[in-house]
Amino acid sequence: MTGNNVPLLTFPPGSLGSASLRSAGDAYNEDDDGQASSVKRWYHYLPLCLVIFCLLIPHPSLLHVLIHYHLLVLDSPLQFTIHLLTTYTLTFAAFSSLIVCVARDPGPVPDPKHESGDGEDMTLEDALMAPPPADDYLQPGRWCKICWAPKPERAHHCSACGRCVLKMDHHCPWVGAKCIGHRTYPSFVHLLASVTLLALYIASVNISGLWYAFSNPLSMGEVTPVHMLFLAFMGIVVTMIIGSFFGYHVYLILTNQTTIENISSFHILRHLPPLPPSKLSSPPYEHELSFDQRRLVRAAHRSVRMYDIGWRRNWAQVFAPAHNWRMWLARVLWGGACVGNGQKFPLNPRADEMLARLAEELVKLEQDRG
Ligand SMILES: [Zn+2]
Ligand SMILES: [Zn+2]
Repeated sequence: MTGNNVPLLTFPPGSLGSASLRSAGDAYNEDDDGQASSVKRWYHYLPLCLVIFCLLIPHPSLLHVLIHYHLLVLDSPLQFTIHLLTTYTLTFAAFSSLIVCVARDPGPVPDPKHESGDGEDMTLEDALMAPPPADDYLQPGRWCKICWAPKPERAHHCSACGRCVLKMDHHCPWVGAKCIGHRTYPSFVHLLASVTLLALYIASVNISGLWYAFSNPLSMGEVTPVHMLFLAFMGIVVTMIIGSFFGYHVYLILTNQTTIENISSFHILRHLPPLPPSKLSSPPYEHELSFDQRRLVRAAHRSVRMYDIGWRRNWAQVFAPAHNWRMWLARVLWGGACVGNGQKFPLNPRADEMLARLAEELVKLEQDRG
């Protein structure tokens, strides 16, 4: 009728694998081996530049205060040296963990082909005769339909990075638009802790300096108290903002949750036991649930912590007990990586029973609805 043969659906060559399922607005390119990788633009690094700027900006004022107040007014080389060493050690700690978060891969999902050692050379016959993979990737949520690859437990697909990340915590624009995952989470917490301690230290040193300046108005010129005021204000603001994030992550570590698991209630649906035949899928999808069922899932999410095995063992999964001095050094200087391979996690022994109860109540509500 139209005279031209334009098909209703067109697929660019090679798009029927993973690329066809990607969202249209994302910027991707395809490497020669078909692996997707996200393209980063210059503006993705602007928040990182802001972080570096905020870490460096207090230092001219800080040096001014240390020289003009602690060294010249108080005439205390000891206080000068202690404050100088403490602030620069904390600054070094913040930069070392920031570099790890920016430069390190947060958690590559292992390729099962390469893991088994067969890979592309495997014949069809070998593939058919091969034993099934150790993991059951048919379980809900265990196969990434975008990467078209197995997705280990607690791994998530990041749409901004265009890949799956082991034990993904969140995508962080502040560290060069990268994910925080299994291999960078302790470094991220180390960064938050170092910045909070640095800000708290700078704030307390300068608040005591301001107190001295107000008590002894003739002791110093008018510029030094202005530097003190700037440092005290900045220190308090940063302590409140970054300190609250640090506190939140300590809570997440102690209860063994990632940020994604903590903020998304409906991920627990994929852990439900098989449901009896009803209008709900097994496991149910979020959009199938009624208002009451959603409320029930949200309430259950607050009490069912899938991986919580006691705060000591939860803490040890992130910051393992130090076995040797090298591990200690890594923990103190840059945070290091989480313990284990990031693919298997012990489950909370009470979770099964609570999930079974949730499944029962969901089905009961479904029957009442029908
Ligand atoms: Zn993926
Ligand atoms: Zn990401």
